[in-house]
Amino acid sequence: MYIDTHTHLNARQFDSDREAVVHRAVQAGVDIMVIPNVDVDTIEPIQQLCHTYPSHCRAMMGIHPTSIKKDYGKKLAEAERALRKGGYVAIGEIGIDLYWDTTYECEQVEAFGIQIEWALERDLPINIHARNSLSLCIDIVAEYHSRYPQLRGIFHCFDGSIEDAQRIIALGRFKLGIGGLVTFKNATVADVVRRVPLQYIVLETDAPYLSPHPLRGRRNEPARIPMIAAKLSTLYEVPLEEIAEKTSANAREVYALDL
Ligand SMILES: [Zn+2]
Repeated sequence: MYIDTHTHLNARQFDSDREAVVHRAVQAGVDIMVIPNVDVDTIEPIQQLCHTYPSHCRAMMGIHPTSIKKDYGKKLAEAERALRKGGYVAIGEIGIDLYWDTTYECEQVEAFGIQIEWALERDLPINIHARNSLSLCIDIVAEYHSRYPQLRGIFHCFDGSIEDAQRIIALGRFKLGIGGLVTFKNATVADVVRRVPLQYIVLETDAPYLSPHPLRGRRNEPARIPMIAAKLSTLYEVPLEEIAEKTSANAREVYALDL
């Protein structure tokens, strides 16, 4: 059994066949899908999804860094209101994205810190989006971690160096989210992952994005988690079952899943 620790099942790309996508996931052994929130308009659809598939879907709450602009205070207030109602397994996806736009870097850093504090107040993990900002994100998390060692979470879509991986591992309770990137031809992250003990790895698709090789460029979906696991099986030279078992145990530990 597999867990997709980061999948945008609410995305409009699934509007025409979402039910079939969930069915294919379950058929492929991907029993649990954890859905990150992105902006205020995704809160309700994700709640609906978790309501429709209570034994397969769990939700995160947070505002994605690319949705953080000048008015981020209003968005955070709305996200926190939803969070107070409960039922969320993580704060995410949160972090810093300096790839698309650097205009609101200060606001992004501020919002990241506020949302890390939500996680600490509620003993929830954080799901971190870091694009062109990995060392900055690790610095920020490490700073919180030095004061609050109970802080835990996942660096989603990890594509850093071995030094980055080692800094994350040193935080104790953090995992690397590994997805389609690791299957791409000449992916440098594959050489990094190989050197990271399996206890720090969780699987994710980030669907509809980052479809694994040889389906790169196509719409991704949670049913492709076994393709990522197969790549890890080769990298670690351990049976596929062991990849499934260990990465699922890691995901259950970090998200404290009740199913
Ligand atoms: Zn995502």
